[in-house]
Amino acid sequence: MNVPGLDPREVRRDAGLRPGRGLSRRLLLGVGGVTLLSGCASNGGGSAGAGPVRATTPAGATVPTGSEPSSRPTTGGAPFPGHGTAGSGSSTGSAGSVSSSPVGSSSGSSNGGAAGSPTTAPAANRNDAPPAPGHPQFYVHEGDKAIALTIDDGPSSKYTPQVLALLAQYKIAATFCMIGQNAAQHASLVAEVSAAGHLVANHTWDHADLSRMSEARVTAEIERANDAITKGGARQPVLFRAPGGNWSPTVFSVCAKMGLRPLDWSVDPRDWSRPGTDHIVQTVMGHTHTGSIILEHDGGGDRSQTVAALRRFIPQLLEAGYHFVQP
Ligand SMILES: [Zn+2]
Repeated sequence: MNVPGLDPREVRRDAGLRPGRGLSRRLLLGVGGVTLLSGCASNGGGSAGAGPVRATTPAGATVPTGSEPSSRPTTGGAPFPGHGTAGSGSSTGSAGSVSSSPVGSSSGSSNGGAAGSPTTAPAANRNDAPPAPGHPQFYVHEGDKAIALTIDDGPSSKYTPQVLALLAQYKIAATFCMIGQNAAQHASLVAEVSAAGHLVANHTWDHADLSRMSEARVTAEIERANDAITKGGARQPVLFRAPGGNWSPTVFSVCAKMGLRPLDWSVDPRDWSRPGTDHIVQTVMGHTHTGSIILEHDGGGDRSQTVAALRRFIPQLLEAGYHFVQP
């Protein structure tokens, strides 16, 4: 759960850096770049520790909650269970997890920043090399002003159609990191997203924190989600995003075996915490640079702020000269 006043990101980070545990986020970041730790990625395991919490919100918003650990404070609104921040640090990165935030260089500074505010990563350097094997991708490398938009935790019967309409309006191709059980429940939306030209990435079956799972369990989480996504009509995913950005050597290994590229993000306005539409827009506009991978959510709860923010920042980014590519 969240501990009031405690920046989830810190929790997550500490956990990830715990000595003796797998790869450290800092190492990863060194390679990747900077980002924010939060978002889907950062949510900690939640209150209950690490287990994924599968909450199915009545309104169609199903949200398994699991891992986005450190970041999903339960504060912003009714969160989903599980998305809370792990105050105890248990969830998040505990064991051997490798967190992903690109915090590149800025691990210290950026994250350490003000609590609550999204941190961003330093500007993406268009010369950054693609991630080395065993590391997630924090940036796209498609040239000047190329950025990517990723939409996580859906599909949602209520919000995914709204997001699709906006993307169509601006002719933008995005990447939807879907949770397998939501894809199974809303198969027609999987087909709709795919048919519209968007990429569908695997985001586990139930948004579990994979960082401490065995290879067999990680494989099962990913395979089950792949099955739901392909049955829904999308092609076999080639991208995988770990809930909460909680990576581990095991997760990287399974991704390699399954032909999946690990995908992280570099700009996280923590929209899932419902910080206010203005805050989401300002964070995105203030932290997006060439190469940025922006994280937003269409699933997991009330995403009306996210939709409102997309409606504002997409045209602003286009006006600023950016164009959207897929990782
Ligand atoms: Zn997620």
